[in-house]
Amino acid sequence: MMRQYELVERVQRYDPQADEDLLNRAYVYAMKAHGTQTRASGEAYFSHPLEVAAILTDMKLDSATIAAALLHDTVEDTEATHGEIVDKFGFEIAALVDGLTKIKKLDVVTKEATQAENLRKLLLAMAKDVRVLLVKLADRLHNMRTLHHVKPEKRQRIAQETMEIYAPLAGRMGMQLVREEMEDIAFKVLDPSTAEFINGRLERLRAESGSILTEIEGALRQALEEHGIAAEVSGREKKPYSIYRKMQRKHLSLDQLADIFGFRVLLDNVDECYLSLGVVHQKWFAVPGRFKDYISSPKANDYRSIHTTVIGPHSQRVEMQIRTKSMHEIAERGVAAHALYKEGAGSASAVEDSSAYKWLRHLVETLQEGESPKEFLEHTRLELFHDQVFCFTPKGKLIALPRGATPIDFAYALHTSIGDSCVGCKINGRTAALVTKLENGDEVVIIRSDAASPPPAWEAIVVTGKAKSAIRRATRADIRKQYAHIGRELVEKLLARQKLELNEKEAVAAVPRLGHKNLDDALAAIGRGDLSANDLAKAMGLEIEAKNLRGLRKRNSKESDGKFSLPVRGAAAGMAMKIHAATGAVPGERIVGIVTPGEGITIYPIYADALEQFDQEPDRWVDLAWGVAEEGQRFPARIAINIANEVGALAQVTQVIGEHGSNIDELTLHAHHGVRDFYDLVILLEVTDIRHLNVIMNELKAKPLVSDVSRVTG
Ligand code: MN
Repeated sequence: MMRQYELVERVQRYDPQADEDLLNRAYVYAMKAHGTQTRASGEAYFSHPLEVAAILTDMKLDSATIAAALLHDTVEDTEATHGEIVDKFGFEIAALVDGLTKIKKLDVVTKEATQAENLRKLLLAMAKDVRVLLVKLADRLHNMRTLHHVKPEKRQRIAQETMEIYAPLAGRMGMQLVREEMEDIAFKVLDPSTAEFINGRLERLRAESGSILTEIEGALRQALEEHGIAAEVSGREKKPYSIYRKMQRKHLSLDQLADIFGFRVLLDNVDECYLSLGVVHQKWFAVPGRFKDYISSPKANDYRSIHTTVIGPHSQRVEMQIRTKSMHEIAERGVAAHALYKEGAGSASAVEDSSAYKWLRHLVETLQEGESPKEFLEHTRLELFHDQVFCFTPKGKLIALPRGATPIDFAYALHTSIGDSCVGCKINGRTAALVTKLENGDEVVIIRSDAASPPPAWEAIVVTGKAKSAIRRATRADIRKQYAHIGRELVEKLLARQKLELNEKEAVAAVPRLGHKNLDDALAAIGRGDLSANDLAKAMGLEIEAKNLRGLRKRNSKESDGKFSLPVRGAAAGMAMKIHAATGAVPGERIVGIVTPGEGITIYPIYADALEQFDQEPDRWVDLAWGVAEEGQRFPARIAINIANEVGALAQVTQVIGEHGSNIDELTLHAHHGVRDFYDLVILLEVTDIRHLNVIMNELKAKPLVSDVSRVTG
């Protein structure tokens, strides 16, 4: 166990003005208070607060923080009281100890709600004084280091919590060393086989690469020296967990992950950083897309550094971080590094200027707005894991979103009803697309329409969980409404053919016989194809014979009789109706629908070969007619082009299509059977209607290299 004078010496090494008397008193008081208590390891309990204090001396923290670390478990675990701490050590230290006492229960978390509530307390306590957080993180780090003494079941829980909350929190505060150590210990507990596998591979790579590390180090140092730059160069192996995370994120195997070694170049000033970058890029090839300048635009946790990857002397990828020594301090120790520049009791003030700490304050402000504990936990986890963008409402309310968030996420963050009715937005006063990625400081105005509902495609665009689930919910409700609408029309058309009208009362009375709760449910089932319109008619006591629409096809009728047709409004993915993919279908051409149980209606052009398979199932046929398309709405049509195998032929085709404002969604090339000098192009076009399609097809036919153009019939 560390002696009293040893601890004092450690502090005095970086802080000659350290309050020696305070440290001595805290040491003695805590040792006496814990008395004969022991830890799971069998050691004296006092060894724990002492080690926590030692970790904080590595972070070069002030005497008050070290004293608070020594005392951090006294009020909760011993006879000591808050009043006594105030009497003996004064208000500043008592407040720190009090903060730590309040969050002490965080260590015995079971239920998610309790965990959230405790996290809330932790954040509130540390927002008052960031030193509470620093002691808490050191406390958790020491508990992680001694985790093997704890019972397996409890070990799992502590490791999980460390991985989810403390490690990201340390990272968010810029304390990378603490974060990495926590993650690696937790990783070994939570996923021992993967951790072992990565460690094994690392050992092999280490043996294989042998002296490469020192060789590259030397080459780097020499190149910089030649340009008169004195740099501290060091190579290091990445930590197993950070390698694992990278493999996950980039879907790579360990073998593909070439850059498991990283090099650091530490310099005296910013100019030298950029000079060094120049030297490195002059000497070795840079890997494209890997250069990042966090010196000119620091990360949200105050991290500053230049990153680049080059192809090194043995053709391997070499990742490099170039930064000044003071940037390096902050990179490794984060908020704790800011404490270096402060003096005495006002120690928290320098820290408060750091943007990591501002983030913390902001987080605390949002949690005071009274989210439910569970939501809060989810929210905080997300916040910890992602870099943030902070945006504003026109009234200046701050909305924090994960990086990559869109105005749609912003709208849902304000309120679900705002997200659901959102149709457009303005960013910083300018009209912008809803898919725009928001930037820090953006002021966002959401434009709403009560008639709107969120398109299903938004689900893939948004990044926040809140927006995703709300869109999914709205889409489900919307599709159900569409199905019910289709179902109602199907029933009405069926009855109209018999010159009957739908009697709402009789229908409602018949619904229980079909096993449905209410008429809307039954109609949605009909629209979805789970029930036929005829089933409802029968349940209402009506006998109706199905009409075979196949006759329409045989007559090759161009126009529907309209009377029995359903209007096709939206036919996009995720809607209750969809267009048959193999042929496509466009407004202006005769269409029919086929009902498939559980899937709804598929729209076919009347000439589609695929319709033959439904000949024996007249019940599934629905007569359809095109409704009015929305402005700019496009429909798919698949065409086949027989074309000469000559230079420029493909360009001619794509040019015609482009000139007419159509898009190519898919393009496949088939060798033409028997005829060597021609091939078939099959193209899925997007057009507004049949006229648009015909213009394009006719113009294609007129091209000299095109021998034939036709619709694909399935
Ligand atoms: Mn403790």
